[in-house]
Amino acid sequence: MPTSFQIDTNFLDHIKPTVRRMSAYTVEGGQEAEVKLNQNENPYDLPEWLKREIVEAFVKESWNRYPSTFSDAAVARYAEFINVPKECVIMGNGSNELIYTIFLATLHRHASVLIPAPSFSLYDKVAALMEAEILHVAMTPTLDFDTEQILEEAHRSRPNLIVLSTANNPTSRSMKFEDIERIVSQTRSLVLVDEAYAEFSRERSALELLENYSNVIVLRTLSKAFSMAGLRIGFAISNPMLTAELLKPKIPFASTRLAEIAVIKVLENYHLVRATIEQILSERERLMQALRTISQIQVLDSDANFLIVRVEHPKRIFEALKAKGVLVRDVSKYPMMEHCLRISIGSPEENNRLLAALTEIFE
Ligand code: PMP
Repeated sequence: MPTSFQIDTNFLDHIKPTVRRMSAYTVEGGQEAEVKLNQNENPYDLPEWLKREIVEAFVKESWNRYPSTFSDAAVARYAEFINVPKECVIMGNGSNELIYTIFLATLHRHASVLIPAPSFSLYDKVAALMEAEILHVAMTPTLDFDTEQILEEAHRSRPNLIVLSTANNPTSRSMKFEDIERIVSQTRSLVLVDEAYAEFSRERSALELLENYSNVIVLRTLSKAFSMAGLRIGFAISNPMLTAELLKPKIPFASTRLAEIAVIKVLENYHLVRATIEQILSERERLMQALRTISQIQVLDSDANFLIVRVEHPKRIFEALKAKGVLVRDVSKYPMMEHCLRISIGSPEENNRLLAALTEIFE
């Protein structure tokens, strides 16, 4: 292997300008920590016996054979779980893959997409790759969705796609079900409702809108509540005709046989998932109350498995926590979030470590 490369940079002329301008996705602050509260993961892994059951079933599979093109068995099982026909469901290698798929199917150089800001950064990135026009609508000063402004912009610009992450990453705030219904019913845009955090939300799911509105796509993931971020499993749900269109640009064989088996086995054991959701919800409440006793911290009410806190010097607090082995997410670069840190809800022990560290820092 060569150890140094003579690089003639002419090849850069062939990289798309939009790509030249962007950077690769990074998890700022890294992915290693004693107390890891920076990626909105479930702090509880699946039990070892269940992981073994999944792996043993996977060992019996033929690894030399391709998996089913679009993961039919897992799709059928998840469809049954959320009580929709299987023709409504697409499985992806994480919901990230499905964001690419849906944007590929809907966006192009003369199309536009409405994205409330701040929201999940991947939407802007994939929209830019598609060279679509991005219409940002700012959140309100309380970091809530500004439904009136979204409707106004939608009426003015008639975007091809509206993307609503609710509960929203990174703000932790949800859009009311009635407001989603207003947007879906009053516009002709496709409305992608990313429900990555649905299991932690108090709001009704947009899945309820599928029957009456044909412009809704709901996105779900098994990376958060289902403790399977490492297996990369997500689902898109829409009416059968729309689903058939979205499937066309999708990468074939994107989900492994292992992922298919994992879906089936984890849904057989959904009570385990339910238990960790209950734990996280009760810890969300406890952590929020405890943080509110620290006068230098302001905490937003959260509808997800993470909290947004406002502090005077977020970078300094981020670094001080990191030095104590507690990794949170510095989200202060997002618009309107200059003073914010994002903290995933951990296990009780992890949350205690966080609280002890913050108490020390602010003493
Ligand atoms: N949507 C939102 C709103 C998210 O916050 C995330 C994870 N950060 C994803 C999608 C991606 O999830 P997945 O692991 O399913 O690709």
